[in-house]
Amino acid sequence: MTASQQDLALREQAQGFLSREVHHLIIDGQSVPAASGKTMTTVNPSTGDVLARLASGGQADVDRAVLAARRAFKGPWSAWSPYERQALLTRVGQVLDAKFDELAQIEAVDMGAPVTRLRNSKAALMKMLSFFASQATNISGETLMNGIPGSVTTMTLKAPVGVIGGIIPWNGPLVSQFWIIGAVLASGCTAVLKPASEASLSVLRVAEILLEAGVPAGVINVVTGSGKDAGNALAAHPDVDRIAFTGSTQTGRSIIQASTVNIKKLQLELGGKSADIVCSDADLDKAVPGAAMGVFANSGQICFAGTRVLVQRPIVDEFTERLLAFIKTLRVGNSLDDTATLGPVISQNQLDNVLSYIDVGRAEGAELLCGGQRLGDELENGYFMQPSVFGGVTNDMRIAREEIFGPVLSIMPFDDIDEAIAIANDNEYGLGGAVWSQNLSTALRVVHGVHTGTMWVNCYGYVDPMVGFNGTKMSGYGAKGTAAHMDTYLYTKSVYMQL
Ligand code: NAD
Repeated sequence: MTASQQDLALREQAQGFLSREVHHLIIDGQSVPAASGKTMTTVNPSTGDVLARLASGGQADVDRAVLAARRAFKGPWSAWSPYERQALLTRVGQVLDAKFDELAQIEAVDMGAPVTRLRNSKAALMKMLSFFASQATNISGETLMNGIPGSVTTMTLKAPVGVIGGIIPWNGPLVSQFWIIGAVLASGCTAVLKPASEASLSVLRVAEILLEAGVPAGVINVVTGSGKDAGNALAAHPDVDRIAFTGSTQTGRSIIQASTVNIKKLQLELGGKSADIVCSDADLDKAVPGAAMGVFANSGQICFAGTRVLVQRPIVDEFTERLLAFIKTLRVGNSLDDTATLGPVISQNQLDNVLSYIDVGRAEGAELLCGGQRLGDELENGYFMQPSVFGGVTNDMRIAREEIFGPVLSIMPFDDIDEAIAIANDNEYGLGGAVWSQNLSTALRVVHGVHTGTMWVNCYGYVDPMVGFNGTKMSGYGAKGTAAHMDTYLYTKSVYMQL
């Protein structure tokens, strides 16, 4: 079966959803047009064709959605017990399990990730839902000793904060939206979600599925639209209690400014420029594919991509040769082609931006060892780019300092571990990072030395909600996963009881 035949066959399964004339907002359990009547289009990045028309929401729609979320927060939902919310999360998991293939197809054509990669992400989603189901029955305060004369009992209580504004990026909304939805359902909050205009469809379809699974109307609302209109209206809304934002550092700054209206607490997961350190004693059978996919997975559109690959000088040649051989095994193709390992980047804009960094790298004196071009032939209408590698990169170059968010890897030689740690730390971001070494003390030295929110040793990119995923420096704050994640959705009340 050719890619285009597969494309048609797979689309049929999600056809009912994709063929709607306009995808409306979801407010208070209802599908409603934007108050202004405005719409916008979204494009399939594998073909460049218009995929769907969506409501383009703005201030009035955010107002309506926040009102619905507030009403739901104060309504019968507030009386659901932790066990009931846990059972709901379990049911949501079962319904999503049954519908996941349809969701994977929708996401594949909307944001361009290969459908096989998306199907494989089902296990991660199921784990996330189990984790949040467990959190529903694990919300606890403390009883505390005190120094107050007399008989005063003191404790802290945890309570849901209220309405959450969830602002979601385009690089993997199908799974990433559940960092918000899971915590909202576990904590008893409600939410207004604002997906990225480039990839909103899986968020809209999930909101419908949540209603089918029994999530009460108004608990999860979705307002599609631009960041400038719908996103900013949500971030600045005086009746939104918290913002959970994942996106670029630049947008994160605007969110911080907007949040001052009512001093919202923020969970900010921002950009990155992570260092992946390959020591001379690394097992290259693992380090080469690990470091390569640490960059090229999702066509480089992953916040924690290890785009600065620091390689110890004695093995630079061998590592480079094996990396280039590995890249030849990757197949770039239509996101619905089951054999594709890499899909397109999200948009023409993103492609232009990534290609401009190829020019920047060359002009800075780095050596382009492979790739660097848009792909043609049957892929010419999509936003496909060859996986690209620069050699001889130094840390002062823009390609080593700025987030490219595309399939571009930089090889940066180093001599000793202290130098590698210094290079890794000489960057404004602090999101991911890894070390490949068979020597445990070398690995631990790097783990301790690198100033970053998440480190992997002899692996790259595992994220488990039980362990969490953090960022520091300009990569943001507020944990994803662990009980710390739930803290964004709860507030603490200190209680003094004189009996
Ligand atoms: P983006 O910042 O452009 O957009 C993210 C979301 O914010 C979108 O929904 C967008 O519409 C909205 N938005 C834009 N301007 C806004 C404004 N002024 N006010 C409110 N909302 C606004 O990011 P993107 O291009 O969608 O995603 C890529 C970026 O996200 C990269 O920098 C990447 O590193 C980062 N990211 C980080 C993580 C993480 O966990 N740290 C995960 C995924 C992506």
